[in-house]
Order: sequence, then C-alpha cells, then structure tokens
Amino acid sequence: MNIILLGAPGSGKGTQAALLSEKFNLQHISTGELCRKEVSKGTTLGSKLADIMKAGQLIPDILIIDILKQHLLESSKSNKGFIFDGFPRTISQAKDLDNMLADLKLTVEHVIQINVDKNYIVSRLSSRTSCAQCGHVYNDKTNPTLVSGVCDKCGSKEFIHRQDDNEEIILKRLDVYSTLTAPLIPYYQGMGKLHQIDGNTDVETVSNRIENLLNADKVSPKSASV
Ligand code: ADP
Ligand code: ZN
Repeated sequence: MNIILLGAPGSGKGTQAALLSEKFNLQHISTGELCRKEVSKGTTLGSKLADIMKAGQLIPDILIIDILKQHLLESSKSNKGFIFDGFPRTISQAKDLDNMLADLKLTVEHVIQINVDKNYIVSRLSSRTSCAQCGHVYNDKTNPTLVSGVCDKCGSKEFIHRQDDNEEIILKRLDVYSTLTAPLIPYYQGMGKLHQIDGNTDVETVSNRIENLLNADKVSPKSASV
C-alpha cells in the first residue's frame, strides 16, 4: 500500500505519517526531512537548500526528485509500502512519482488530504519544536512532552525550532501551497484516489480517522469529509 499525505504546512502530515508508518509498516518518506538532513551535512547542495527553505519557497522539482531517488536507492525495501509526506508538492512531481512507481510496478493507492484552518496553522507552527537528538516533533501548546523539557522518545533535553516556522515565512509557505500544491487536489480527485479528512482536532482523533479509512474493508475513495 502506497499513500500520499497531502495538506498545507502545519496540517499534521509529518506527525500522522510517523504514526501510520508504525501502524501499517510503511516506509515514511518526508522530502522536507531529507532536505534538512542534507543541510545538516554542510554540503554545497545543503546550503543551497537551506536558503530556499528559509525563504519558504519550494526546492526546484529537478533537485527534489534527485534527492528522493538517491534516498530510495539507499533505503532498504523491507516495508509494505511507502507513505509520502510533503511529496509531491507540484503536478510535475506527481507525474514523476507516478512514473517512478510504475517502473517498480507500483502505484499510489490513497491520497489523504488533511484539512486544517489557516488561523490554526500559524499558531500551531509557531509553537512547534522538535528533539535535536531524534527529531521527534512536539508542540508546546497542543502536543507537549510528558515531562517538561525532556524528549519522550530519547530523553534528550535539547530542542530546536525550525527557522521557517516564523509567522512571515509560514504565510509565504501557505501561499506557495495554494498556488503550486493545491492543484494536486483536483488531480488526485480525478483519479478517484482522494480522501479528505478534517484535521482541526487532536493528533489521536485525526490518526483514528485515517486508520478507519484505510482499514475499511473496501476503501472507496471519495472526496466527502470523513
Ligand atoms: P511543511 O509541510 O511544514 O512545510 P516540510 O518539512 O514538508 O514542512 O517542508 C519544509 C520545506 O522543505 C518546504 O517549505 C520546501 O522548501 C522544502 N520541501 C519539502 N518537500 C518538498 C518538495 N516535495 N518539493 C519542493 N520543496 C520541498
Ligand atoms: Zn528525542
């Protein structure tokens, strides 16, 4: 089973993808995470990516496809499928993905769009932090650590706030989403693969909604809210 999570920045794609990858044994692929890893290596490519991300713009399609292909070559194939988080982000990336998967005799079965209100997004992202050690994502307001200042997963006490999670850049990213990524909604709707989920609620409720949808005996893609 191969799944795409679609949604604006801050809609909870990363959090939900991590949960789903465990529940369904899928390989979680976050192109944003792949880019941040490259940045942390301090390569020339990394510094180019950092400048683009800091400005809230998209990485050019050709570069992101290269990064993704490289990752797929290096990763083990022991999972039952992929869960794509933050990819594709343009129609051209979607077409490239279809071709890449077709070469592997695979296809995308479900595209799950997580809908979250814009005002909620800005406040969510402004209070988002992640563990500097293991990368687990928290939210000071809505999804804090169990013990204040200590990562639930690895015990680290160091946290980072993403540079692109400030109000000005969040609004830019939302703009980019509406212009370049939102056209994927009718694209996948036309293929009968789109499911829409209301994401304006807590992590567990959203996760259960997605799980129910995927567990339904015969999932029939539809665009009505679940
Ligand atoms: P979010 O969904 O919250 O914006 P991501 O981690 O998915 O967070 O992405 C962070 C940044 O990484 C994006 O703003 C963009 O600059 C870059 N990026 C990630 N995925 C892609 C992609 N598929 N195409 C182009 N740029 C991407
Ligand atoms: Zn941690």
